[in-house]
Amino acid sequence: MRWSGQLVDGNEPAQEALFDAGAVVRTFDTPGFRGTTFYEVRAKSVLNRVTADAWMFNWTINPYRGCGHRCTYCFARKTHTYLDFDAGLDFDTRIVVKVNAPEVLRRELARPSWRREPVAMGTNVDCYQRAEGRYRLMPEIISALAASGTPLSILTKGTLMLRDLPLLLDAARDVPVSLSMSIGFLDRELWRTVEAGTPSPARRLDAVRTLADSGLGCSVLMAPILPYLSDSPEQLRACVKALADAGARSITPLVLHLRPGAREWYFSWLQAHHPQLVPRYRALYRRGSYAPAWYTERITREVRAYAQEFGLSRGPGRRSSDPEVVPAAPPAPPASPTPPAQEREQPEQLELWSQA
Ligand code: SF4
Repeated sequence: MRWSGQLVDGNEPAQEALFDAGAVVRTFDTPGFRGTTFYEVRAKSVLNRVTADAWMFNWTINPYRGCGHRCTYCFARKTHTYLDFDAGLDFDTRIVVKVNAPEVLRRELARPSWRREPVAMGTNVDCYQRAEGRYRLMPEIISALAASGTPLSILTKGTLMLRDLPLLLDAARDVPVSLSMSIGFLDRELWRTVEAGTPSPARRLDAVRTLADSGLGCSVLMAPILPYLSDSPEQLRACVKALADAGARSITPLVLHLRPGAREWYFSWLQAHHPQLVPRYRALYRRGSYAPAWYTERITREVRAYAQEFGLSRGPGRRSSDPEVVPAAPPAPPASPTPPAQEREQPEQLELWSQA
């Protein structure tokens, strides 16, 4: 692989642009981590500048590469190929951990040139995936950002975020803190197969409730909405109702998009579990990675109507007839098709932060 020289048994030179030398390969023989290999690397930098004009934040931090949450549709799968891993099983089971992320971050935040612009986490892979339970990188990252006066936002499917709730409450006394949970549907059978490594939708709803009760609040990225699997009016209405009941601060619906990397993996899952839908998906995504406008507009319209029905509003002073639902228009494609030396961010979260 491209950077295997960093590994204890590697033979090739390290990729200096991403990581320092001195990484180790580790496995854990515990139920949650069986079959997963961790590549502990020492990052040279962790603050990643997002350059595309379309982004609503300028900086991101991604302490991990690959994700044990194993969502078949994950848009970040392609980024694993930049490390010479594959976008399928390797993405799920070969997790790169930037073990020195807090230390490097503190150094970067201390630079006189740091302007305390908002930093987003969870923009590429999930920062509260299972590995975080063992490596515990996020507490120090949150503390470092807050201590430096840097606003932060987190998007996750990981209920592990609640572990850090006291810390997040502390941070919110010093800087703006914005939290979001990703919940695309409620169907347990669908969840078990399509996003098998994530906490169940019910547990994520509980997390939204806990965050709402804490006073911090939590927005919801209702994503992905899966055509013909989780998009019926009944399913959308039930999901919006559950989100409203849980106290979601806002809802951003986002229809499944299938870029290369995710596309192949999702279609093989579809073929195995819902083969009758394959022709319909091929027709819907025949023009590329995104569902057509007529479809996404239908989803946005319906979600907005249900949000209105269940009284979701933008907060104090805003009418409940003006629900906080951001249109489900497809995000802009990456600025360049060429994989960069630094991590390329994906624009899925554009919608989410655009409502701020
Ligand atoms: S939780 Fe997010 S980053 Fe992880 S596999 Fe699922 S979609 Fe990808």
